[in-house]
Formats: sequence, structure tokens, C-alpha cells
Amino acid sequence: MNARFKIAADRFDIDRVRADFPLLQREVHGKPLVYFDNANTSQKPASVIEAVDEHYRLHNANVARAVHELGEEATAAYEGARDRLARFINASSSQELVLTSGTTQSINLVAYSFLLPRLRPGDVIVTTVMEHHANIVPWQIVAQRSGATVKAAPINAAGELDVEAFIALLGPEVKLAAVGHVSNVLGTVNPVRELARECRRRGIPLLVDGSQAVPHRPVDVQSLGCDFYAVTGHKMLAPTGTGLLWARKEHLQAMPPFFGGGEMIREVSFEGTTFADPPHRFEAGTPNIAGFAGVTAAIDYYERLGFDAIRLWESELLAYATERLREVPGLRLFGEAADKEPVLSFLVEGAQATDLATLLDLEGIAVRSGHHCAHPLMAYYGVPATLRASLAFYNTPEEVDIFVAALQKVRKLLL
Ligand code: PLP
Repeated sequence: MNARFKIAADRFDIDRVRADFPLLQREVHGKPLVYFDNANTSQKPASVIEAVDEHYRLHNANVARAVHELGEEATAAYEGARDRLARFINASSSQELVLTSGTTQSINLVAYSFLLPRLRPGDVIVTTVMEHHANIVPWQIVAQRSGATVKAAPINAAGELDVEAFIALLGPEVKLAAVGHVSNVLGTVNPVRELARECRRRGIPLLVDGSQAVPHRPVDVQSLGCDFYAVTGHKMLAPTGTGLLWARKEHLQAMPPFFGGGEMIREVSFEGTTFADPPHRFEAGTPNIAGFAGVTAAIDYYERLGFDAIRLWESELLAYATERLREVPGLRLFGEAADKEPVLSFLVEGAQATDLATLLDLEGIAVRSGHHCAHPLMAYYGVPATLRASLAFYNTPEEVDIFVAALQKVRKLLL
């Protein structure tokens, strides 16, 4: 074990942690897998996989419809996940959480149900150049429909938000601001509390895309002071097709339904349908019940490890990986924010990102190449793509060594 990991290793049994993740034991192209694509989606511990399996083996039924035992168990699993998620992000009530299929659905719900009815020609939505497309395109669509515009705050050379420029955009015509808590490309942690304070002072609702924050740090929506917080489950150890939108109660109560169908009504007649109270008003149709059973197991897993230990391990991993990557000749790192999660985006002079990623795959190393659903950020840097190594608490310094050695090797092949 690398000497600097001694402190973290005392508090973090990495071998035991890795043994919890079946997929980490496999080989790819005859080599032990090094999975560095965690910002894309995380791997799942056995307890999450088993929770989904157990749901289908023992409890499978639809929610909120049947009075039979299985129906009650399925409803308890689904509503239980809502309660656990509410505590996980410190919402004041689980009724402030709409369960969704992920961040994309959560943000679209705010765009269509909350924002669109309020937008008038000339209005503005403020975001940043470092956003994922999921936090840009829904705003553009509702802006186009209403004659509003979307404005993006710039970043500095370290890949940090230019907070002054962001605040300067918050004029009286702004109807919503939307920022990522953590950038999926740069790892930059945005000063959400400060941004929320500035927005609140001006009466502007703030939406925070928390997709890349919840896997790495404890989130407290009440202390952040934002109005909406969107989360995706599959990046935080849980199954795909799970997520949430947290919103202040007054916003949810003022929002009309977005999807219509079963589960979200009180009474349906052709004379006029009445809707259920929030959050069920926004949850039409049969949800991903087994997936949410997995969400509860994922939160259990985080709580067993504890974010103190996770954060210590990940911060040492990030520092070590950054230092080792700098050894690679011609490497340009994007994003060196003072507050950063373990995401490393880079380019190597003379080599295409996709070629490097393809050759690294042959070495058993999974990294992502491309625009990372962040075209405006790529345009900002004037590059078409980057290579991204995104780490999780189950990664090791030895994997970083394997990765850097492989990168040195494949770089030589391409030059
Ligand atoms: N926002 C950020 C910052 C992301 O990294 C992602 C996924 O890559 C999303 C939103 C979209 O999440 P999902 O595809 O789970 O809806």
C-alpha cells in the first residue's frame, strides 16, 4: 500500500469493500478490470443486487392499488425508500420528494410543471457553462416555447464557477437559476450555499443538479438553501431508473401535474378529474418498485461505510491520481478547482481521446472519452472531447498505478 494511504486505510478496509462488489472481481480482455467510469454509472454492491432480487422473489406486486399482503409489502418498500432518501438528503419531510427515473426526469418535471407556466417573453433562465445537457436542454426547450432565453455563467482557468459573473446575471427578468452541485467533467464543487443565498435574496428559485454530489458527500438540502435538488440513483450504487426530485413544499403544492395517468389522481370523471396531493400527483403509472428497494440497500451501504471514511479515501485517491497523471508527457488536465471530487478529465498531446480509451479498454481499463454530455463546456475549452477517469471509494492506488502505466504504454503506441 502506498504510504500516503496509511491514514485512510486505517479507517477503511478497502479489501472488504471491494469484495462487496461482484463486478469488480471480473476480468476484461484477460486483464483484471479497472473501473474508472464511475461518473457515468457506479457499480453495485451485492446487497443492492440482492435487494432487487429479493423484491422479485418474495414481494413483487404493484404499489398503492391492492389491499393484499404483497401489495402492502411492495408499497412499504417503495414508500420506505422515499423515507430513507428524505433522511439521506435531510429533507424536512418525505412528502417533499418526488420519486423519478433519475435526474433527467426530475429536471424536466421542474421545467414543464414549475417553470413553463411562469415564463414570459424576455424572461431569463441562468445556468453555467459547465452543466450536463440534462441541466441545459430542458431549459432551452421551455425557453423556446415561451420566448425566454438561457444565459450561462462562465468559469475561470481552474474550472471554477465565476461566482461574480453568475450573480451579475441574476437580474429581475430571471425566473430560475440552475447549477450542478458537482461537475461531471471537471469534478468542481460549486458553492451552492452562497449561490442559493444570492438567488433567495432576489426571489429567484434555484435548482441544483446533485447527480455527481450524492455519491461523494453528505447532502443537506435544508442547509444548502436551494429550492429544488435532483438526484439520480444509478450513480450512487442504486439500480438504473431510480432518482428523485426534492422541492420545497410550497413549490410542489403550486405545481400542476406533468404526466397524467394512474396513481396520481383522487377522482376521475369526464366532468373533471381531481389530483392526488404532492408528491404522488407527479408519479403517474407504475414506478420502478424493485429499483427503489435497491435504493434503500444503497443508502444502507453508504451509511455502513460512513461519508467521513469515504471522503478521506477518495480525497487521497484524487491527490494521488492527479500527481501520477502529471508524470505523463504532454498531458493537459481540465479542472483544478480547490474544492473537487475525484474526476480527472484530460487530453494527451498528439493522441485522440477515443483512441486512448479504446486502447486502455484492451488493458482492462474502463474510462470514458467524448463530450460527457457537456458540449458547451467542450466548446468553452475549444476541444471536441476529453478522456475522463472518474473514481469511487472502491478504487485503489494500485489501480491508479496500473492506469498510469497503461496510459504511458498506449500513448507511445499512438505517437
Ligand atoms: N447531471 C449530471 C451532472 C450528470 O452527470 C448526469 C449523468 O451523467 C445527469 C445529469 C443525467 O443523469 P441521468 O441520465 O441519470 O438522468
